[in-house]
Amino acid sequence: MKKVRTRFAPSPTGFMHLGGLRTALYAYLYAKSNGGDFILRIEDTDQGRYVDGAVELIYSSLRESGLYYDEGPDVGGDYGPYVQSERKAIYAEYAKKLIDLGGAYYCFCSKERLESLTDENGNRKYDKHCLKLSKEEVERRIAAGEPYVIRQNIPTEGTSSYEDLIYGTINVDYAELEDNILIKSDGMPTYNFANVIDDHLMGITHVIRGTEYLSSTPKYNLMYDTFGWERPVYIHLPTIMKDATRKLSKRYGDANFDDFVKKGYLKEAIINYVALLGWAPKDNSEKMTLSEMVEKFSLDGISKSPSIFDEVKLRWLNGEYIRALSDEEFYELALPYLEKSKVNGKYDLKKVAALLHTRVEVLGEIPEKIDWLAELTEYDLNLFANKKNKTDEAVARELLPKIYEYVEGIDDFSNDNLYSVLSGKAAESGIKSGALFWVMRIAITGQGVTPGGATEMAALIGKEETLKRLRFSMELLNK
Ligand code: GLU
Repeated sequence: MKKVRTRFAPSPTGFMHLGGLRTALYAYLYAKSNGGDFILRIEDTDQGRYVDGAVELIYSSLRESGLYYDEGPDVGGDYGPYVQSERKAIYAEYAKKLIDLGGAYYCFCSKERLESLTDENGNRKYDKHCLKLSKEEVERRIAAGEPYVIRQNIPTEGTSSYEDLIYGTINVDYAELEDNILIKSDGMPTYNFANVIDDHLMGITHVIRGTEYLSSTPKYNLMYDTFGWERPVYIHLPTIMKDATRKLSKRYGDANFDDFVKKGYLKEAIINYVALLGWAPKDNSEKMTLSEMVEKFSLDGISKSPSIFDEVKLRWLNGEYIRALSDEEFYELALPYLEKSKVNGKYDLKKVAALLHTRVEVLGEIPEKIDWLAELTEYDLNLFANKKNKTDEAVARELLPKIYEYVEGIDDFSNDNLYSVLSGKAAESGIKSGALFWVMRIAITGQGVTPGGATEMAALIGKEETLKRLRFSMELLNK
């Protein structure tokens, strides 16, 4: 058996769309689960779309998500160059061969002539006008410096058929296809040509890409056949939808790897979630490391139907990854967000992180989750009302002076000590500890939901601040 070779062939557009990342991931998983090689090729023949730094972004996104490629522009390999704009001479050579084999021809048609081929519905199909030119005429016009393109010569009748490993037999009538341009007037190839030449010369055995190429693949097969080359195996991947009607698209601006990283999603969680967009392992596991995915990957787990990108599920998965971190790892990842919050410079950020660790799903939410902790301002006194603990404003008014007195007497302000002393005091004075802690927590935070209980919050803000807040709340209650 030939060694499996797959490739990821992105165009450098300036972002790593999650759909692209999924293609890269599946190509990586397929290669690795079959002991094969995964190759990166940069498809930059559309020079008008050149974006500064875009290629570097592809390299870094793949590395950050763990998708190390065996060959590529920056790592080398035996089949280079791996950047299409550096392969112009190769395409020119093969285009000539294809012309000699009758699979392509020169076309000199002007823009105006092409426009005149547009029908009343705005559709245009090239009419093979230049296919009729004699060899001599073609040579004469080229020698005279006339601009030209090279077009593929597609039969006008017949049906082309191939097997896609996901979608089964695909039949396309040649009449539906057009004599597309293979080499543009600037000498650059189009995708239609370059993908065939490169996949063949780079020894790609399995072509893995989006379904948008499902119906143009017959054109590529025609070239493989004309050259007498073996066709690769095709694996087209289902579309990713934003909702029932819209495709997930870079235009929405929220589908980029980088944006999710900035929002505070962990790279491992993103790549894990992306894996689930169209594939499920036999055992239906959801949380998987990359090497577990390699172990479990198989094509029969890929679905034909579009998958819907579900940020709620991504959040959940991210939360799982966050909870699995050690406190120290979490602190390090959370630090940039903690530093952006209002508590920065006020409290020990390590302690804040420890409180937040199990309560955060996306790191970017950290500031909003704790900004309120920086300062106590007037709050809704109804928060004191709690059925289970039988508390309300009146109970708070009565308990707070006692709590104040107890707290004043405590010097070791660790959570454990605060908890045991205050529970003891409550028991001595016949106060239910649930009521004491409820009232105290509301009084020092002014929040219904907090990332820790009363004593955890007090330990975090310290004795002086706790007493100050208790006084503030007593005044508020007596207003
Ligand atoms: N450059 C193409 C794209 O970005 C690659 C398609 C393929 O994998 O063949 O869509």
